[in-house]
Amino acid sequence: MTETKAAIGDPVSDEPAIPRDKLGSVFEDIRSHALFDHELHGCLNCGICTATCPSAHYYDYSPREIVQLLWTENLEGIYDAMQEKIWACAQCYTCAARCPFGNSPGGLVMIMREVAIKHGMQSAKDVLRPFSRVLLKVISTGNQLAPNMITSDAFPDWGPNVSKVNAPLNILRKAIPVPTLHTMDTAWEVNLKTSVELYTIWEATGVLDQLETVDENLFDVINDIMDEKREEYAEWLEEQQGKE
Ligand code: SF4
Ligand code: SF4
Repeated sequence: MTETKAAIGDPVSDEPAIPRDKLGSVFEDIRSHALFDHELHGCLNCGICTATCPSAHYYDYSPREIVQLLWTENLEGIYDAMQEKIWACAQCYTCAARCPFGNSPGGLVMIMREVAIKHGMQSAKDVLRPFSRVLLKVISTGNQLAPNMITSDAFPDWGPNVSKVNAPLNILRKAIPVPTLHTMDTAWEVNLKTSVELYTIWEATGVLDQLETVDENLFDVINDIMDEKREEYAEWLEEQQGKE
């Protein structure tokens, strides 16, 4: 009887082999995702998705390959693709519009990214690290960016034109005829009650658990901010009750 290998790895590499159980649990998390059956219906291996994929033109990446790995349940290949390739997708969904089978390779990549985060894969940590300021802003305030974050130092990849937004933004913002936009710390003012409700959503949907897996320091900072805002909200509620 043929013996099943307990681990898969390159026999000439010093890298530790990935146990088959681990490969299986990663694939199971992908396959059991609520959207998986909606995004994958089979694959003709026709390559139309790759021919129209912008990322395939610039990176060592092919949506056809990703779909084939999933369709043929190639556990090692799936795990390998999650170490780098899946992060090349631009999520434009051109592939989904073109696939004759009604697949969504971009949607499948999104599922694989979620699972990479859930498993704390190094690739997820590396990709998300430069976005820690944005994550902090989104989770602590509900805003993605604040005007005072848009500086040439923070966005060197925007090129020389970023200096145009280094204008006196605090004055320019006051010219906007919407009072909630007269702020520099957030894109718009988020009411305290809304912030506290958002924290409950982040907790209940597992967003904070995912964050803890990929960036423990940021998770601690955000927890402190949430505690402060919740206290502030409780005090405000008490004050309101005192006025009644
Ligand atoms: S995912 Fe669709 S477009 Fe891409 S190779 Fe398979 S059948 Fe063709
Ligand atoms: S969603 Fe991703 S895989 Fe699909 S065409 Fe766009 S970049 Fe390519």
